[in-house]
Amino acid sequence: MPQTLPITLVVPNPLNDVAKIGMLLGTAETAFQVNGWDVKFDVEIKYLDRPDGAIYDQRYCIRTSQATVPVMLQAARQIVGGNGARKRYVVFLCDMIVDAPNMQTTTVTPTGANGESVTGGAVSSLSLISRKSTVGNADGRTWAHEIGHGLGLGHVADTDNFMSASRHLANGQITGFDITKEQLVTMAQHCLALVKDGV
Ligand SMILES: [Zn+2]
Repeated sequence: MPQTLPITLVVPNPLNDVAKIGMLLGTAETAFQVNGWDVKFDVEIKYLDRPDGAIYDQRYCIRTSQATVPVMLQAARQIVGGNGARKRYVVFLCDMIVDAPNMQTTTVTPTGANGESVTGGAVSSLSLISRKSTVGNADGRTWAHEIGHGLGLGHVADTDNFMSASRHLANGQITGFDITKEQLVTMAQHCLALVKDGV
């Protein structure tokens, strides 16, 4: 019987592109499956009708800073609400991830990142629209990579591996989708703990 990874996707209404979201999630799920993790995503989508003024601003950026990413993303779980949120992987979809020292700052700087995650924290933010000119950003590999972080994985040096930090090699080629047995075990264990005890 396949393991279930419950995912709550928080989607600002202007970014509601069901076909694209489904494709990106499907790519990430398939990447895990073909590498040997028998997993099914159980996806629920929560729509935001308007910005909350904190995590999301009027342009549907999600604001981060290096020091506060974990705090911000964990606090963002409150958007989802309820105890059940602790037992689901939460993905905050956004238009753009920007740096801001705090929420009151009006000047923001795009980070150029297409995803941010709390390692082992089962929470990520993902940009739906690529902010880099190179092909392949904010794609299914990015989604798989960020979910990998959220399920306990760090970066690895092997550029064929999906947890390689470099998104592109020097020649522009997109890095690979390989997943090791050890990585699969780590993700499966975190998935089990998430469903059982929550984060
Ligand atoms: Zn990473």
